[in-house]
Amino acid sequence: MRSLATATRCPLCDKPVNLLADYFATSGDFLAPDHPLYPYAGAKMHWDCYEPWPCRPELARPFVEAWIKANRANPYWAEAYRDNQVYVSANPMPPIAEVSLRFYETGNDVRVPLDDWPLWIADKDRRADLREMDRECLSRSLDRIRAALPDIVTIRSLTGRTRVPIRSAAVPTMPTTPRQPRWQV
Ligand SMILES: [Zn+2]
Repeated sequence: MRSLATATRCPLCDKPVNLLADYFATSGDFLAPDHPLYPYAGAKMHWDCYEPWPCRPELARPFVEAWIKANRANPYWAEAYRDNQVYVSANPMPPIAEVSLRFYETGNDVRVPLDDWPLWIADKDRRADLREMDRECLSRSLDRIRAALPDIVTIRSLTGRTRVPIRSAAVPTMPTTPRQPRWQV
């Protein structure tokens, strides 16, 4: 099946996607060419089309699984928590110092500044900008995430492994999304 990754039309509504606006797209080779959703891997989709798409979880899960695999070779991001609904990783080092949550049902990269983490998990008003699909997923996972990652010290202890100096770091092959191009540092 032909990939739609280079098209500028959303494959879900067949209308143009403004490349300067916010849109969703996966990236990386995480589906076999004979997979039914292969044409949608890498395709640019309007958020309003992607969020209610019935096939969204089927595309998102293998995409998140690819991230998990890639992060194992990433000198900057490390796993902080994972269960069968969410993958949480963190890069505790400045200038990034962020936590990333990826839900298997959405594939979106939800970023939280590490310094904001305690308030973010405690106060729903701090999470007001979450997309509805991520909010729904978080509501099912929040208690477990809070228990596993209650504070910044815990996240640092889980993810603050010895880092490869940036100048000599080997750059692993990583899936990236247009919204989060700065995975490396
Ligand atoms: Zn669309």
